[in-house]
Amino acid sequence: MLELRGVSKTYGLNGQRVTAVADVTLSVAPGEFVALTGPSGCGKSTLLHLMGAMDRADRGEIWLADQPLHDLGEEELIQVRRRQIGFVFQFFYLLPTMTVEENVELPLLLAGVTCHLERVAALLEQVGLSHRARAYPATLSGGELQRAALARALVGRPRLIIADEPTGNLDSDNGGRVLEILRGLAGREGVAVVMATHSAEAAEVASRVLRMRDGRVQT
Ligand code: ADP
Repeated sequence: MLELRGVSKTYGLNGQRVTAVADVTLSVAPGEFVALTGPSGCGKSTLLHLMGAMDRADRGEIWLADQPLHDLGEEELIQVRRRQIGFVFQFFYLLPTMTVEENVELPLLLAGVTCHLERVAALLEQVGLSHRARAYPATLSGGELQRAALARALVGRPRLIIADEPTGNLDSDNGGRVLEILRGLAGREGVAVVMATHSAEAAEVASRVLRMRDGRVQT
């Protein structure tokens, strides 16, 4: 599903080079739920950005299914992000002027997909938010916001979910609920999930834990 071969990423900062990701080789199979852990600054976010086609590696290859992300042009990468990858972040990033339902529908509208109301309703049901479909984000709790963001990430049927500290702003009950949804997706629907987390509880729910240190994934 997702394969990285010898991937490195270096940033230039104040004339100095910082190696954020160093020679990472790994693969994630369909249905796997992988937790990426490690101290702050070890490269988790950078690695997620590379996997999610949000940034380019300096070296190495990244394959999503049979597509070489390292070889694709900007336009093609945008299409891959829109159609094949779902993103979940610590700060939910719902649009405040749209209802929950409209936020969830938005990726489909952007992708030019029509006839999507049933899909949106089914997802809101799946994440336990049917009763909040017409509400605005400002009136939702943190847990509800993250479940809405999850529904939005899933609406286009992505093959890969990239989650950066998805429980970082939630109490343990709400965090647990979000993790259960992610685990269910991986288990039942064969979606690959890669989640960066500081939380030991979150890592425990994953099917595999990758530990990072100084830009490297420890084996
Ligand atoms: P983590 O997510 O594990 O906290 P990051 O991937 O954010 O780690 O950062 C890895 C390293 O790369 C750190 O040393 C960080 O300071 C550096 N870094 C991250 N993003 C940038 C950037 N845009 N410009 C310069 N340095 C960066």
